[in-house]
Amino acid sequence: MTNRIIELFGSKVFNDAVMRERLTEETYNKLHRTIKNGTQLNPEIAQEVANAMKEWAVENGATHFTHWFHPLSGATAEKHESFISTAGGGSVILEFSPSNLVKGEADASSFPSGGLRDTFEARGYTAWDPTSYAFIKDGILCIPTVFISYSGEALDHKTPLLRSMEALNTQAKRILHFFGNDDVDHVKATAGAEQEYFLVDKKLYDKREDLILTGRTLIGAPAPKGQEMNDHYYGQIKVRVLEFMHDLNEELWKLGIQAKTEHNEVAPSQHELANIFMTINVSVDQNNLTMEIMKKVAKKHQLECLLHEKPFARINGSGKHNNWSLKTDTGVNLLDPGETPGENAQFLIFLCAIIKAVDEYQDLIRISIASAGNDHRLGGSEAPPAIVSIFLGDELTEIIESIENDSVIVGHKREPFQLGVHALPSFPKDNTDRNRTSPFAFTGNKFEFRMPGSSASIATPNTILNTVVAEELKQFADRLENCEDVNAGIQELIKETIRDHKRIIFNGNGYDESWIAEAERRGLSNYRSTPEALAHYLDKKNVDVFVNNGVLTRTECESRYEIYLEKYYKTINIEAHTLLDMMKKDVLPATARYAKELIISLRNEYEFGVMDSNGYSYKSFKHITALQKAISNDVEDLEKLLAQDKGDDPLTIAWYFHDRIIPLMNSIRYNCDMLETLTDRSYWPMPTYKDLLFGVD
Ligand code: ADP
Ligand code: MG
Repeated sequence: MTNRIIELFGSKVFNDAVMRERLTEETYNKLHRTIKNGTQLNPEIAQEVANAMKEWAVENGATHFTHWFHPLSGATAEKHESFISTAGGGSVILEFSPSNLVKGEADASSFPSGGLRDTFEARGYTAWDPTSYAFIKDGILCIPTVFISYSGEALDHKTPLLRSMEALNTQAKRILHFFGNDDVDHVKATAGAEQEYFLVDKKLYDKREDLILTGRTLIGAPAPKGQEMNDHYYGQIKVRVLEFMHDLNEELWKLGIQAKTEHNEVAPSQHELANIFMTINVSVDQNNLTMEIMKKVAKKHQLECLLHEKPFARINGSGKHNNWSLKTDTGVNLLDPGETPGENAQFLIFLCAIIKAVDEYQDLIRISIASAGNDHRLGGSEAPPAIVSIFLGDELTEIIESIENDSVIVGHKREPFQLGVHALPSFPKDNTDRNRTSPFAFTGNKFEFRMPGSSASIATPNTILNTVVAEELKQFADRLENCEDVNAGIQELIKETIRDHKRIIFNGNGYDESWIAEAERRGLSNYRSTPEALAHYLDKKNVDVFVNNGVLTRTECESRYEIYLEKYYKTINIEAHTLLDMMKKDVLPATARYAKELIISLRNEYEFGVMDSNGYSYKSFKHITALQKAISNDVEDLEKLLAQDKGDDPLTIAWYFHDRIIPLMNSIRYNCDMLETLTDRSYWPMPTYKDLLFGVD
């Protein structure tokens, strides 16, 4: 087995080993430098790289190539082109020119651009990101690219991510300089995503219009058994699921993706997979690819993989924990507290930059994970609340408090902690991971951001994290550069930052009601819904942080604001129309048939003189017809509201859907779920929660 893994691992990736084997030493060295430093591909070597890549791809069964990118619509996009060119005389050759590798042209007009299209040409370009390896998927050579408009505006998730990595690199190196670490060439953010998902039987899925069109169930009474026994968590994995996981692992290995854990999650039919952490842009690509492969492999096993944040009401939804840290090319994790006083002080500076960043840009961090799907999870006692806060653990909190107050800490009996002189007492790593309710938790040598939803790309949360931390590092570096006594300056900076930003630190239970009041008292923001959060996207300080760090221009921010809002209300619009369709074509007709059956039985009872107004048929009939009436009234209202002109301000439209459409949908669902509990199973027109959640053997 081990040999097989070694053989499979990365076999479909044009990785370092393949490059070394297939390129001349000179070209390999140049390409290697490009990858390491994240610079642009040297055109001189493009020809040789393209040839080697094509030969390798064809030997491995590829017939086509595509630039693989992440437009703002969410899913990954591909435009396949064949390697085949005509060579005269009816013969063909396989061709892949350097320009095919370096740059592609895509019609941008069918991807969301948030107004950029009005000002700029419809054409867009894709350009290779050589720091993410090319790979073969379904016989197609996929080249990871960025996607930009003709005039260079970012039209994708990746461009700003790469820009934010550069900003972070520049500022982190300035900080390292104060600690004498000038040997560091590069600082890169690392990320590892833990992906939750549900598996349901494909045949059942195919009978649910809501799952097919919206990814979640819009109606469904609870199954008699839910997650209350906690018997699914880490429980025995079912055979069919194991077979799926086995296949999934193999497919991921081939693509050089290491998936670490696989276990059952809290809800029935829910599972988790964690990718081993990588440099952030590679990790983003790998997570996107993982989601795609999960869906594909599931189908092979007659399963359907649900990545939606809340596929089922009243049981846990799915999130994606984003583990984030900073690593130097010399192999140092900058969020590891270290052992010497010098390492400790450096760690504390980075820690303080993060504390300040998360406090000052709570709203952006909340915005980075805002979506219609995630609105169902946040604050529902299954995921962190919509309030952003940091968990540091008792030991680390005690240390920073003692720094702030010049007080003596346990384990450091002599005198107040002095940076660069005293070493931090070591604190057990395990203690840092106890509190699972915090949205942003320090877990020993990295932060775990637990708010992202399961279906979204982790590109945006990481772009924002990188950007806001880069901003604070920049401010720190500017200040330290003007200090005569750098050591004293560092000590002062840390004290001041803790004093001014400690309100963001919260080690208590984030699911507790009292935290909401406490957070308000501390002045922390609590944006419960996507429109509420997005309303702050264009706040001056937010646009400034993007612009000043070279991550997004003002125009790009404006276009993203529109796209995010559009995505929100379009999602709800589709859900509302799907719900209407299900009511009118399935639920109301089916329950009308059942009501007719009840009438027949009532008539019989009447004829036999045994009719009883307290009897089952009579009561059910009354109850069912009342619910049907309530539903059809709501259906009519919903149709009217959906048809109304909502103006063209995207925020107003988003609020309209939030305030008017969602409550009506909830009302329909409430009545429909009651109706389900009263209807004869054989009449109910679709698989139930019991079927879906307990239907995989
Ligand atoms: P757990 O104890 O919860 O399994 P791990 O430390 O094993 O936590 O990691 C959980 C996730 O965090 C994995 O995806 C892992 O790759 C990622 N991770 C670990 N270290 C780092 C790091 N330095 N930077 C980013 N992600 C990391
Ligand atoms: Mg986790």
